[in-house]
Amino acid sequence: MLQELPQALAANIQSAARLLTAPARICILTGAGISAESGIPTFRDKQTGLWEQYRAEDLANPAAFARDPQLVWSWYQWRRQLVHNKQPNPAHLALADWQDYAAQHNQSISLITQNVDDLHEQAGSTAAHLHGHLWRNRCSHCGISYEDKSRDFNADKDVSEDDSNFSTDLITCQHCDNYIRPDIVWFGEALPTGAWQHAEDAAANCDVFISIGTSSLVYPAAGLAQLAQQNGAKIIEINPNPTPNTIVDITLADKAGVVMPHLVQQIKET
Ligand code: NAD
Ligand code: ZN
Repeated sequence: MLQELPQALAANIQSAARLLTAPARICILTGAGISAESGIPTFRDKQTGLWEQYRAEDLANPAAFARDPQLVWSWYQWRRQLVHNKQPNPAHLALADWQDYAAQHNQSISLITQNVDDLHEQAGSTAAHLHGHLWRNRCSHCGISYEDKSRDFNADKDVSEDDSNFSTDLITCQHCDNYIRPDIVWFGEALPTGAWQHAEDAAANCDVFISIGTSSLVYPAAGLAQLAQQNGAKIIEINPNPTPNTIVDITLADKAGVVMPHLVQQIKET
């Protein structure tokens, strides 16, 4: 099966698989790139349609919401419309399969994601979400989580393609009357303490750290690989494009959906 890949990539996958058969603790950080092959654009991709003139960074921040809540809410409803029928791709599925396999072979795999989609969960993995959840909402002022059954995105998303689920009407909090916002960590905001502590622990105590589909530009998540390396871990990166991450031991330079199934198969065969 590896023969179908370019020789250099196949050799690197074999080296990575050798590195990954023995260690007890593996930490994996995923970013928008792992969901790209499911049809969810990354923030580096140019936005399309109505939103072509906006940069994601200029919308996903608290100042933008304070200035123009309608604009930011509409953008998230558009993203929800875009994401609601997307499914895990071979990378998410291979990762979930590997987590099952590892659990039976005395290995632990901690999965940390910067993604706000739920494709890891759909594939059967458990992931710590550093940047929140696209399908949850909370009050922008008092923080209380907002559940509206008529907007139960998770429940609706398999059965309905109806635009009305993604109304751009702003919603206000029943407790303090301020606007409801997506439960997402925006640029400039602190990460959720529990998820971040889990990520730091997993990175500082792993034998191998794997970064999949992240630009390694968005801190503090981008610092996890450095933390792992300072504590003696080997670093593997899966990304078809070069990143500023200079501490990588093995680069698997192709799409996650191509690399991951091969890598997991090699791990099982090594
Ligand atoms: P990013 O958009 O900055 O970078 C994506 C990276 O993925 C790039 O380095 C790109 O080369 C790589 N990539 C593209 N296609 C790939 C593929 N098929 N396989 C492997 N890699 C591929 O994303 P980021 O580093 O995760 O950080 C930006 C922020 O954007 C995060 O905070 C995240 O919350 C948010 N975001 C999330 C989603 C999502 O939930 N799916 C989508 C867009 C942005
Ligand atoms: Zn409130």
